[in-house]
Amino acid sequence: MPAANPFQNALRQLDRAAKKINLNEDILNILRNPIRILQVYIPVRMDDGKVKVFHGYRVQHNESRGPTKGGVRYHPKADLSEVKALAMLMTWKCALMDIPYGGAKGGVVVDPKKLSHGELERLTRGYVRGLNGFIGPNRDIPAPDVYTNPQIMAWIMDEASRLTGYNVPGIVTGKPVEIGGSHGRQYATAQGGIFVLQEVCGMKGVKCDRFSRVIIQGFGNAGSYTAKILHSMKFKIIGLSDSKGAIMDLKGLDPNKVETYKDKTGSVVGYPGTKKLTNAKLLEQPCEILIPAALDNQITGQNANRIKAKIILELANGAITPEADDKLNKKNILVIPDILSNAGGVTVSYFEWVQNMQQYYWDEEEVMAQLRKVMTRAFKQTFETAKLHQVDLRMGAYILAVSRVAEAIKLRGY
Ligand code: GLU
Repeated sequence: MPAANPFQNALRQLDRAAKKINLNEDILNILRNPIRILQVYIPVRMDDGKVKVFHGYRVQHNESRGPTKGGVRYHPKADLSEVKALAMLMTWKCALMDIPYGGAKGGVVVDPKKLSHGELERLTRGYVRGLNGFIGPNRDIPAPDVYTNPQIMAWIMDEASRLTGYNVPGIVTGKPVEIGGSHGRQYATAQGGIFVLQEVCGMKGVKCDRFSRVIIQGFGNAGSYTAKILHSMKFKIIGLSDSKGAIMDLKGLDPNKVETYKDKTGSVVGYPGTKKLTNAKLLEQPCEILIPAALDNQITGQNANRIKAKIILELANGAITPEADDKLNKKNILVIPDILSNAGGVTVSYFEWVQNMQQYYWDEEEVMAQLRKVMTRAFKQTFETAKLHQVDLRMGAYILAVSRVAEAIKLRGY
């Protein structure tokens, strides 16, 4: 049987939750589809003078609880099924955090590492012109995702403001602090996940403390900040990786030093004193806490039985497939699902948007205090819901999120 595509996996998770709560069939039908799919073809003048046309998407899944919200990824393998799945995940994530947004996601098929600074800027501005009229502070608000960063958000904000005729900082989040970004947004995904992890570690019967061995797959925004923060909390980071491969050192790694090495050489691979292995093998190494923070579809029906971690903090969206969930449950591995684990990013995006709309800015301490509150609340509600329905944390999170969106649809009428 061919592997299910990301959107089919997302639908399976939705269907499972719908069954548990006996969701009204009409509402389920609405939720199984996005409300809008935009495809754009973006001509970009390359540095060699030739024009190349790039293909981009923006999928808006549901807006019953507020304007749609979600990142934009630049990736050579970005495709519509993935963007549709990720847009749907954003709907659940925002509902679970109880922030007033629906879900959306964007993707451009491109390897940004192969573009110059200028080409990347022209591509980004072209993408924004393509989305003109469909994004806006009260409509749909993009943000960073895989291989996009604050500089790209700055160009989005600038191009959108030029099209509008005045400054519209609230049209995008994840901007640099100098132009309306929020303090703490850069490491918010990592920090939010760690707040949840701390709650889990405080639970009865869960053994995880600063002696726990941690393995992190991926060294982008989420992975690298998670590694650095956990290291500063004295957790033992024994494995790290990036797109080029993985490294291990059972004595423990200092992610700050690994980062300096990666900045110089282009990869974590080759870091002195470490053993090299593949990304797939890294996931199967013995550890207490495993953190997939790279791409989707990493823990599947194929390899789930070989996972030896006690807890998985799913920082990457869709890193674990539904088949894998079933197997991990049987092995008593505690999975903290993506829509909870990585929701710190969109939560601080929400704070950024609130600050933009009010033109009143908070300090970092305030941002982190609010983030901890939102993450802890969502974790507790998820845990209680899971207990009540006798399901795992993912289904607990889905039941909560889907019920909230369904309630909004019902109240508004359809
Ligand atoms: N791309 C991030 C996510 O998947 C952040 C989205 C946002 O801040 O809007 O949650």
